[in-house]
Amino acid sequence: MKSFITYGRDSHFPIENIPFGVALINGEKRIVTAIGDYVLDLKMLEGIGYIFQEKKVFQTETLNEFMGCGKKVWTDARNRIQKLLDADNAELRDSEVIRNECFHLMKDVEMVLPVSIGDYTDFYSSREHASNVGEMFRGKENALMPNWLHIPIAYHGRSSSIIVSGEDVRRPKGQTRPDPNAAPVFGASKQMDFELEMGFFIGTGNNLGENITVENAEEHIFGMVVVNDWSARDIQAWEYQPLGPFLAKNFATSISPWIVTLDALQPFRTEGPKFEKELLPYLQTKGNPTFDINLEVKLKSGKMDEAVMICESNYKYLYYNMRQHLAHHTVNGCNTRTGDMMASGTISGPTKDARGSMLEITWRGTEPIKLPSGEERKFIEDGDTVIMRAYAKGENYTVGFGEVKAKLLPAK
Ligand code: MN
Repeated sequence: MKSFITYGRDSHFPIENIPFGVALINGEKRIVTAIGDYVLDLKMLEGIGYIFQEKKVFQTETLNEFMGCGKKVWTDARNRIQKLLDADNAELRDSEVIRNECFHLMKDVEMVLPVSIGDYTDFYSSREHASNVGEMFRGKENALMPNWLHIPIAYHGRSSSIIVSGEDVRRPKGQTRPDPNAAPVFGASKQMDFELEMGFFIGTGNNLGENITVENAEEHIFGMVVVNDWSARDIQAWEYQPLGPFLAKNFATSISPWIVTLDALQPFRTEGPKFEKELLPYLQTKGNPTFDINLEVKLKSGKMDEAVMICESNYKYLYYNMRQHLAHHTVNGCNTRTGDMMASGTISGPTKDARGSMLEITWRGTEPIKLPSGEERKFIEDGDTVIMRAYAKGENYTVGFGEVKAKLLPAK
């Protein structure tokens, strides 16, 4: 495939990708795709009849209507957009007036939250992450809880505080107990952390009382984003038992603005880890149920000109895959709806440089990292920017997610 728009082989947005997002163009939220260094205005192309669908779903300010149409509509739309961008197709290529109107340089437009997000669930599906955290809090012997190898663990998160890349995050205040022999105290969190995750969006959901099987799960999944599940570790340590995280997590969750479809990710399918314990039949998946997606985290303090790499991981390290997430989430008859988001949990890998949170990288602050500026970090400090990127490598192209980036502001 070749587009008349040119870009390098490392561009995250070649014609093989065609992600979906919402951009602010002349003060208006418009549904767009990305190609090379440009965003392409799909609202306009649908409006003038270049994209024809039964329902005009690109005239709204979020992707929800489109997402609710189902897999065939998503695939048809993506195919049609690819066709419009094809170097051999004159329709858009030779329509100079329309071309001048519908392409915008990506660096000139602001991306906004692409979906009106419904319910948000965060899993805990990296064995390495669960083992690292378990070891720190409970010792090596009890690192993995007895249920972990049998069920995908998760908690219900909060969607109201999900924000898009580029929005700053405010250090939260809360209750902690720094001295286990003294009374708890109130104040700004002193252990701010990120969690490197990926999330998926429900396109078409299921009715209450029904369930989605591992075989059907991907029919319901619209696409994926990169997620930074901001975490206040000191608040978390004091509040998490017995019902799991609450205020340590719900003050902010950042996502990347582009949703990459599962169609675009097909070439990157892979098997994933072996299951140590035989799973119950409803969780057993066949074939290549996961994806080879490279993940990076970079950190930039206020004193640094350039961000430094602090983690390199991969989506394929996850023990439980998306099919299992959705099948498990609905096996009791829990309904899901268009726009719901499910995140993976921190994606750590088998090596030290693949640890997906500061908690693990610095081993709860006991092994601080040195930054090129000479500064040290145990956790994230005010003025630090955290940048996460994800991309899958093809033979001569890259299917990328762009980045999710946010700066930490001091507590109010
Ligand atoms: Mn998380």
